[in-house]
Amino acid sequence: MSKIADQWLRDILRTLYQRRDLTRSEIIQATGLNPASVSHALRYMLRAGAVVKVGDLQSSGGRKPEVLNLNGEAAYFVGVDLEGHRIRFGLASLIGDIRYRWEYDLEIGHPLDSDKLFEGIRKVLKYLDSRQMARVLAIGVSYPGLLDQQGRLTAVNLGWNKFPLVAELREKASKQLPVELPVFFESDRHSCVRAERWLGCGQQYNDGLYVISERGIGTGFFLEGRAVEGFRDMAGELGHCVIEPAAEDRCNCGKKGCLESIASSDNIVRQYLDKVGRPRFREKMTIHGVYERARRKDEAALAVLARAGKAWGLALSYVVNLLNPEIIILGGDLISGEDVLVPLIKEEIGRHALPELIGGLKIVVSGLGFDIRLKGACSLAFRKSIADPHLLKKMCLPVFAGPTREADRLDAVPSLP
Ligand SMILES: [Zn+2]
Repeated sequence: MSKIADQWLRDILRTLYQRRDLTRSEIIQATGLNPASVSHALRYMLRAGAVVKVGDLQSSGGRKPEVLNLNGEAAYFVGVDLEGHRIRFGLASLIGDIRYRWEYDLEIGHPLDSDKLFEGIRKVLKYLDSRQMARVLAIGVSYPGLLDQQGRLTAVNLGWNKFPLVAELREKASKQLPVELPVFFESDRHSCVRAERWLGCGQQYNDGLYVISERGIGTGFFLEGRAVEGFRDMAGELGHCVIEPAAEDRCNCGKKGCLESIASSDNIVRQYLDKVGRPRFREKMTIHGVYERARRKDEAALAVLARAGKAWGLALSYVVNLLNPEIIILGGDLISGEDVLVPLIKEEIGRHALPELIGGLKIVVSGLGFDIRLKGACSLAFRKSIADPHLLKKMCLPVFAGPTREADRLDAVPSLP
């Protein structure tokens, strides 16, 4: 039997991970591999159990084409999302579903203790038996802020200033977890855009933009099918583009009139409270409350959303003219503002971008919801795992039902044919 190239396995795993439930001919078409290589690699993966048959297609005659998918039990990945008001942890199977999750609220004003991260990871691992634990391959971490060349993270929400995140997690992972796992890191804007590209609305498109609005604003984009990271890994700082140079709204970055200072969820709430002058709302009011008031035609809510919509639309019109995307995916709190804020954004983009670039442009809200970074972090762990020959091999080890057997162990399995 001829040797199976790692690249065939990678291409097939990646294709099934992204698109699920495919026939052999669809896999051949999507991977661009020759049919004999796909057949050979699929035979190997079906025998090992990494790929399973999930059904047959209806056929008018002759052999029914088999429908194949990944076996969720063949590998698990841990995702950690460090953004926002909450730290989220998830355990995803090879088919990308989050099996176990745990989250906790950040204590504002206190630097996050990295031991809490290991506590969260242990919580999502604790339901696995020894056989499943042996198939956990990697941890993916989606981080906010700026990670410098030395792996030190500066992130306001975590209370970290040049915190040695990479060294701390990699060093402690071997001591604090029941299994030794490699840890991979990716900025939240890249993990979001990759999650959309791999699992969400962006799958069918090669040129797209993802924006998320929560406390701040994040943007990521992919061009010609590849996520763009930029020279310092900071491409996509749309939130800090100055949209109203004369504005008095002070941004977290120190400037005034940035998109974020006018149109992020927290700043929409701030402006609403400034307008209504009722500080008793300050503890309770959220962006969802502002949306709800706008639906009831509350003038102050309509006014702040009109300003935010204008700022969003103007900023995005520059991106449309510059990058000519096929799709803009709106995430975070923009999802629940689909009826009251998104139409204003679309209208403003239409007013400012070149008409030739708007024709065919799709503007949609994300279907991945609030777990997008968690899913992105798990998919980071998957992507890094298939790129690593050792982890790739582990993913394609025979999947046995029942208790752990000696043959489950990597070192007990012969090399690929
Ligand atoms: Zn700014």
